[in-house]
Amino acid sequence: MTVIGVLALQGDFREHLNALSGLGVKTRAVRTVEELSAVDALIIPGGESSVIDRLTRSYGLAEPIKERLAAGMPAYGSCAGMIMLADRLENPAVSSAGLKQQTLGGIDMLVRRNAFGRQVDSFEYPLEFAGHSLDAVFIRAPEALEVGPDVQVLSTVPAPESRAQGRIVAVRQGNLLATSFHPEVTGSRAIHEFFINITQGDA
Ligand code: GLN
Repeated sequence: MTVIGVLALQGDFREHLNALSGLGVKTRAVRTVEELSAVDALIIPGGESSVIDRLTRSYGLAEPIKERLAAGMPAYGSCAGMIMLADRLENPAVSSAGLKQQTLGGIDMLVRRNAFGRQVDSFEYPLEFAGHSLDAVFIRAPEALEVGPDVQVLSTVPAPESRAQGRIVAVRQGNLLATSFHPEVTGSRAIHEFFINITQGDA
């Protein structure tokens, strides 16, 4: 049986573990390289991407995760997790020592962090996602500003009138899925089911 791991260093990993368990999936919290090697797929939760980046590298997990992603491991990132899966960041956090936040990469896109404003600007929006309607929750959410030719745009929200296209909030590239919003904090399981299908090779 497929085991889906959830990177459990920071953020709302418990909500993802609960969502997966509720769908009857075998799950495992991933904090070490050994735990990573025991999973077939990985979810990177919402949280604070600069912290997840720092912890992932200090736990020695960044390179092993990148290797697994390059080898085709399915992965899903929500919010901060979407930022972690972006090949390029428009506005990386910079530490007091001048070090720039890094990502794991994998999805050919340029992402802007906090694209919809601050925590107080969090909002819920009714979205279409792969044939499902769901209320998506955005909390200091990122936006994909540019996507490469191999990236499929799965959901957008309306942009200001000055912009021709909607703002990209859900994407897929091969086995990698990313959403700006947090399905783990709502009742809808459409996104998790979609990801489970990817891990089974059915989507
Ligand atoms: N703005 C956060 C970041 O940059 C992401 C917010 C979230 O995951 N809810 O990591």
